Amino acid sequence: MIEKILPGIFRVELPLPDLSLQTVNVYVIKGKKRNLIVDSGMDTQECKKALLKALQKLDIKLENTDFFITHLHEDHFGLAPEMTPANSKIYINAPEATYLGIESRWEDGFVHGKKNGFPEKELNKFFRDAPDFFRILPLEEMKDALDAHKKGISPQGRVHIIEDKEVLNIGDYSLQSIMTPGHTSGHTCLYEPEKKLLFSGDHILETITPAIFFWPGESRNPLYEFLRSLDKVNSLKVDLVLPGHRNTFRNHRARIAELKTHHYQREQEIESMLLLNGKRGRNAYEIASEVTWNIPQPWNEFTTMLKWMALAETLSHLKFMESQKKITSRCLNDELKCYFWQQASPV
Ligand SMILES: [Zn+2]
Repeated sequence: MIEKILPGIFRVELPLPDLSLQTVNVYVIKGKKRNLIVDSGMDTQECKKALLKALQKLDIKLENTDFFITHLHEDHFGLAPEMTPANSKIYINAPEATYLGIESRWEDGFVHGKKNGFPEKELNKFFRDAPDFFRILPLEEMKDALDAHKKGISPQGRVHIIEDKEVLNIGDYSLQSIMTPGHTSGHTCLYEPEKKLLFSGDHILETITPAIFFWPGESRNPLYEFLRSLDKVNSLKVDLVLPGHRNTFRNHRARIAELKTHHYQREQEIESMLLLNGKRGRNAYEIASEVTWNIPQPWNEFTTMLKWMALAETLSHLKFMESQKKITSRCLNDELKCYFWQQASPV
């Protein structure tokens, strides 16, 4: 499906195998010499076929086209490595390029799961069977791009690191990158100040609440970052939001207020679970199993993947609440068991 947004800007909706998300948006911006595609869609045959068909209709040649990736999730980045010819660029952010290049992330994941109460057997099977999204990452080019970025020189390969406030001029549009960490560690939006357009990736979506995850091996405070990034975008003058999923929308400030309310309510819910929890405290997995998720099935019917994401989302709340001194945590047994208490609880 192709929707013309403005002269030279098109929204292309691509199919996803994920039943809840259903589709992902890719935006094609036609320039005089070079075009830009914001996000690439997922690495599946259906997605690729739909994107190639749309590009043909829009008369876009990949040789004259670069990709800007809002964040390195597979539905946004999956096709970029295979679709980008050698002379084109893939713009990505530094924090995610760095993190995804870490080789110990699976082991880190296992320790992290155990530490937070995830059933070990289930975790073992999950890591064994997990499809390896990382296999499609152009790790060498990412590493080269990071090195070049540090030295302030041009990288050899297709991957380029995008800076905050960098400007990409495409046709009549002047697109400024806006770092909006939260949904991922380096999530980046594109803003067109004159036309007041915001390509928001998964930072703000109209009908979906972006998940905020705390992943193994990270030392950041993702929910804090997300809330700050919401404030950052709130201060921009935006007429039209062009999100990573579903339809474009207006009134970004009302949506930002709703997202903040959602996180506040979840915090209240988690806080109430930590009341009267006695000496032992509760681990993040136990807390996650009691949160009211916006998912029709009960917890015991969640897939391991869903439970893994629910744990990551719960931890982003717990880390945030801890940083606000609303709760405390303690890790026992060589840090292999972590528990959370409401601040006032005894121990
Ligand atoms: Zn997405």
